[in-house]
Amino acid sequence: MAEGDTILRLARRMRARLEGAEVSVRTPGRRRPEGLNAAELDGHVLERVESRGKHLLLHFDGGLLLHSHLGMRGSWQLYERGERWRRPARDAWIALAGNGAEAVNFGGSKMRIVREAQLGRDPRLARLGPDLLADDFDPLVAAARLRSPGPDLKLGEALLGQRLVAGIGNIFRSEGCFEAGIDPNAPIGALGDDQLVSVLEATRRLMLEAAETGRQPSRVYRKAGRPCPRCGETIRSRAQGDSARVSYWCPRCQPPASG
Ligand SMILES: [Zn+2]
Repeated sequence: MAEGDTILRLARRMRARLEGAEVSVRTPGRRRPEGLNAAELDGHVLERVESRGKHLLLHFDGGLLLHSHLGMRGSWQLYERGERWRRPARDAWIALAGNGAEAVNFGGSKMRIVREAQLGRDPRLARLGPDLLADDFDPLVAAARLRSPGPDLKLGEALLGQRLVAGIGNIFRSEGCFEAGIDPNAPIGALGDDQLVSVLEATRRLMLEAAETGRQPSRVYRKAGRPCPRCGETIRSRAQGDSARVSYWCPRCQPPASG
């Protein structure tokens, strides 16, 4: 599952290989991007690669933009030009070649090609909270935003709400809470600003590490019933929030908030 660390890592790799390149575009698969015809991008220069939460934004000259969201199963893969793809071409949504490299997208929840001016009208982007992995991320601003829906919202649910803070997915909300020693089931109202800041900073640190190494941590994620790597207590799990996605925690290292 692509969380903000995956998108940041991808953006860095694309930047190194394709930024500044005049790109040739193919859509070899069955799906077509929404918005403008993909051929519109052909021959344009990829001027800037941006990651924003779980969104990837490719800015081209002439005010064109490719907006991609990988959802649960999508991926971008980078190849040397002419190298054989690891997946069938019919699964590819778009392929961008330039500078001897090729970036190929295999699915996701969103891909559209628009003019830059339309970008602000995308409701998912317009409502996005501060990007946890941005250079100028301010944990106090984000902590205030986590509180904005009200004191009863559980920390683990708040961390997944992309409108509150952007980039965190299911793996890192569990791993971040574990790293900070804070119970994901605690209502936001029972936690102090120092605790919210500490969860945000711990999660950010883990995600930046993963963006460097390409490896996501798994100390508690999907480890229910196994011993905690810190204290040996049995790791627990619980479905949280509307989407009922499961969070994992150690009840000893992350004791219930006293309020
Ligand atoms: Zn523990």
